[in-house]
Amino acid sequence: MLIRFEEFKTNLSQIRAKIADACKKAGRTEESVRLLPVTKNHPVDVARYSWDAGLRAVGENRVQEALGKMDDVDPALSWELIGPLQSNKAKRVAEKFGRVQTVDRAKIAKVLDRHAGEAGRVLPVLLQINAGRDPAKSGAELEDAPTLLEAALECSNLRVDGLMTIGALSDDLDVARRCFASLRECRDELSERFGVALPELSMGMSGDMEEAILEGSTMVRVGTALFGRRVYA
Ligand SMILES: *Cc1c(COP(=O)(O)O)cnc(C)c1O
Repeated sequence: MLIRFEEFKTNLSQIRAKIADACKKAGRTEESVRLLPVTKNHPVDVARYSWDAGLRAVGENRVQEALGKMDDVDPALSWELIGPLQSNKAKRVAEKFGRVQTVDRAKIAKVLDRHAGEAGRVLPVLLQINAGRDPAKSGAELEDAPTLLEAALECSNLRVDGLMTIGALSDDLDVARRCFASLRECRDELSERFGVALPELSMGMSGDMEEAILEGSTMVRVGTALFGRRVYA
């Protein structure tokens, strides 16, 4: 069922309070963490809710689903791709998305670069890293991160903002926290080795955002805690 706007606003305040608490605990400012509402598997209404609440970007994990929603929301809303990307969809993605968080191999970086160039734009991206070494999760292996970054930096129509990971799935939140710490360490090493800032660390979801913020997350991607159970699969 579609959540009501008032209910969404209540959830939003609770999440903001949670983010503020975690920032305080980490000795960070509240402004250092942005909230990315994840609207996947929900009707387009929740993207409009996000816009009406002042949020300016949303996350979607399927290209087709996102493209189908874009025309029904203010065109200034930015759409970030947080799901796997195949080459045959790269053209539409490079034209229509505000950022791609899931660049996990050199080949897709090159294809996006070419299409972004043809579209006359520079496309912001994050490199997705399997920081938890979870065989079920996508993302480049930690060992392959330098090669991937090197390839992405050669793409003049891409701007590499930082890294993204999906927290290791476990009942033990310490496991997720170690995964987030690994992503931060990976960023620090890459940053030093390549002399680039890579400021964005997209990590943390509904169930593990506090752990992510304690380890340096700059963007938490939140679906369920904002919009409730996903409406369709
Ligand atoms: C679905 C999804 C989220 C949001 O997950 P919730 O647990 O609903 O907050 C975050 N990141 C990615 C990559 C996702 O696919």
